[in-house]
Amino acid sequence: MEFTPIETEGLVMEELNSGFKHMPVVLDDMRPDEVLVEMKYTGICHTDLVASAGAYTVLDFPAVPGHEGAGVVRAVGPEVKDTSLKVGASVILSFNHCDSCANCSAGHPACCSRFEHLNLAAKRLDNSNSAKLTDGRRVSSQFFGQSSFLKLSVVSQHSVIQCPYPENLALYAALGCGFQTGAGTVLNALKPSVDDSFLIFGAGTVGIAAIMAARYLGLRQIIVVDIVNEKLELAKELGATQVVNSREVKDIPCEIQKITDGGARFAIDCTGVSAVIDMMIDCVCCRGTVGVVGSPDPNFVLKLDPVHLLHNNKTVRGICQGDSIAQEFIPRMMELHRSGNFPLEKLCSFYDVKDFEQAINEVRNGKIIKPILKWS
Ligand SMILES: [Zn+2]
Ligand SMILES: [Zn+2]
Repeated sequence: MEFTPIETEGLVMEELNSGFKHMPVVLDDMRPDEVLVEMKYTGICHTDLVASAGAYTVLDFPAVPGHEGAGVVRAVGPEVKDTSLKVGASVILSFNHCDSCANCSAGHPACCSRFEHLNLAAKRLDNSNSAKLTDGRRVSSQFFGQSSFLKLSVVSQHSVIQCPYPENLALYAALGCGFQTGAGTVLNALKPSVDDSFLIFGAGTVGIAAIMAARYLGLRQIIVVDIVNEKLELAKELGATQVVNSREVKDIPCEIQKITDGGARFAIDCTGVSAVIDMMIDCVCCRGTVGVVGSPDPNFVLKLDPVHLLHNNKTVRGICQGDSIAQEFIPRMMELHRSGNFPLEKLCSFYDVKDFEQAINEVRNGKIIKPILKWS
């Protein structure tokens, strides 16, 4: 497929720990099964920030992260299967998958056997990429199949979801990872019943999405732990039945055992903080399940006690992207928003791309929930 190189721009991580730099990037390759997308909005996720700090050893620098893109299709390769993807269509971008391994075929694309390579290594399966810097250095530009910190990007067809509501592109940018991860963990992976107690650590984007999904199901007890009182207030407003500030309570497992009368049925970590997962195991009841949902920091060490797990029949499981099929679950979340169950307006804050450092600082300080960059 012939492709005339296009100069665009993006937030590039030139090397490990160098942070992001707004600079020109040249797209010089597009395959027949790919889609050229012009970003209008890109959400910033915790995963982008930890990638810059070296959380993913498979990722070669320079690289462009970004995995919550929302934009407009500018070109469609002749082998793209989804015929709704036409030039000019509004689209939301999500994670990539191979579409052919056993888990993909069984309807679990977030468990794709090539997930790490196709998403975190930011390369195609054949190790190639679609972009270079103006000095000729190749760039890892297939992050989650999209590298949506690029204004124009060559995107895997499996990362593209048509959006029938172009007027809501700005809000729906956040659905591609954070909201899908939190809501999918509740609705697709754990599927609690109304009588279950559900414990959520961390009231950021992922945790808040889990709260909204749990309230949508009408769960009896939705308990939220965080260190920022403003976030706990928001959690209550969105459906938390009890909140705990872990800076003010000394023994969290003891407090949770008390609130739940013996331990929560489910507990999920949306913080990625090492100590939280160990603590969660003591917060769930016999036969309880602990979900590892947030991207853990690179030096994570778990102090698992297998005897305690055995005698209490507890489960610890990883849940990636809420075990979602993005092509089905993202439209479902759009409908949850439209029916008033997902008040995204309360959660998203918008910044011009040039103000990306301010956006990152404000989410790190707990001032905002979901920063979304606006491309001009
Ligand atoms: Zn697969
Ligand atoms: Zn993410």
